[in-house]
Amino acid sequence: MLFGRERICAVVAGSTAAEMARQLDRALRWTRTIELRLDWLKSPREHLKFIFRSPRRRLRPTLICTCRRRPAGGRFSGNVRHQLSRFVFSWPLHPQWCDVEIETAGQFPAGELRKFLGPARLLVSYHNFRRTPRNLAAIARRLARSGGDAIKIATHCRSLADCLRVLALARGHRRVVAVPMGEYGLPARVLALREGSALAYAAVEEATAPGQLSLEAMKRVYHADTLDRRTRVYGVIGHPVGHSLSPLMHNVGFQMRRINAVYLPFLVRDLHDFIAAIEPLGIAGFSVTLPHKQRILRYLDDCDPLAVQIGAVNTVVVRGGSRLYGYNTDYVGVLRALERRVRLRGSRVLIYGAGGAARTVAFALAQGGATVSVSARRPGPARSLARAVGGEAVPRACLRREFFDAIVNATPVGMYPRAGKAPLRPAELNCRVVMDLIYRPAKTRLLRLAERRGLEAISGVDMFVAQGTAQWEIWTGVRAPVAAMRRAVLAALRRESTPAGQR
Ligand code: NAP
Repeated sequence: MLFGRERICAVVAGSTAAEMARQLDRALRWTRTIELRLDWLKSPREHLKFIFRSPRRRLRPTLICTCRRRPAGGRFSGNVRHQLSRFVFSWPLHPQWCDVEIETAGQFPAGELRKFLGPARLLVSYHNFRRTPRNLAAIARRLARSGGDAIKIATHCRSLADCLRVLALARGHRRVVAVPMGEYGLPARVLALREGSALAYAAVEEATAPGQLSLEAMKRVYHADTLDRRTRVYGVIGHPVGHSLSPLMHNVGFQMRRINAVYLPFLVRDLHDFIAAIEPLGIAGFSVTLPHKQRILRYLDDCDPLAVQIGAVNTVVVRGGSRLYGYNTDYVGVLRALERRVRLRGSRVLIYGAGGAARTVAFALAQGGATVSVSARRPGPARSLARAVGGEAVPRACLRREFFDAIVNATPVGMYPRAGKAPLRPAELNCRVVMDLIYRPAKTRLLRLAERRGLEAISGVDMFVAQGTAQWEIWTGVRAPVAAMRRAVLAALRRESTPAGQR
């Protein structure tokens, strides 16, 4: 292997020697390939302190020294001579590689540049933090001509099409590091090693480039270094998508059942762009979240009749590489979560809210034999949803006087970060069971109010896990490890709600 056995490279970047040493120790728990961002050190004094006081760690890591100047997106403000002297002063670390940006490398014949690097090999890099230029192949040729031992191209990707072009540079070339940067590039960063990149970077603490994942996520959630051409790729498409707990939940499922698959978050604004990437990336199925649940229907080759009736799809199976089949498992999720506590047939259930999720809940309840009541802040959507499922619209002013078997909140009121709010008042909770679709936080203010009144409370986590495990089973044909997937979601929600200092 060009950079040693481990191809996930931890980026150690701190402003002091102590900070760098601490990060280095953390990084070595995960990988032995380390990039030292010397340009992050705030002064020559800290640089020397780091070099001379941090003995080479026992694990004998593969070290890559980088001292990126500002014009190439780094933090080093000195000139080229000062930059090269930083490499010279780093010789006691015995780095195997030095990463020198083309802005510097282009000024010297390779032979002369190598004099500053000692025995270290030369990685010549190109960065573009604004876009992915059209002429990537020409840029790669220019880097190759500079006489280095390997080249690296890191560009800001604004679409999956950009990501595919960056990854294509690495395919079949052992000496190329391809880095798709930015939020759109995140899934491509995970897939880069599978596509042939010699390295993939991950942050020990603070990201040093946009879209860079943490080392823990790369190793523990995505297992980016074990993915191969047989790995089945799944994901969630949405905008935004960064907050989603689906990657954690689905990947835990794959790991528990030892299935060679990975589930990634795809930030998708333009559905065309994603659809075009399905075949090249070998995507086998995907979850759909806001704002695409309705729009995706246009792209499907076939769709489950119930999903057509609801008018929303949250699960797509890809068959034969590109044919798309849609399902709605939000529907299954609501039923699984509610049916354990309420006998739906013959019951009367109120849905508060009349948006997309409310529509799915209404169809699920009607199918389960419940009488559906809908209340919303705007009477028009409440009436039309009630009509669609043969139910009744109930004005908010009447809720104090009405009784229901269950009330379901289908509005975002009470969702993190505005978790202090509740969509309904205690006097309006005249029912036995209250379900909140919100799962962040796991226990909303509405559910607390319900418990205080002695009512049974169902968290949105139940529906989230049920819809997710249903999609997982559709894709894999295997029974999902529901308890483990649920535990992973709850643990992540607990971590989110615990202040950093108390973890
Ligand atoms: P949506 O299509 O935007 O609909 C939101 C509904 O809430 C609309 O009826 C909206 O009324 C109403 N609303 C918004 N703000 C309100 C306020 N301040 N007071 C009263 N009503 C208000 O959103 P959605 O997709 O249905 O999602 C609704 C909630 O369900 C979200 O919190 C989402 O996270 C959750 N959800 C959870 C799961 C799960 O698996 N647990 C799955 C899907 C959705 P207007 O039309 O007047 O704006």
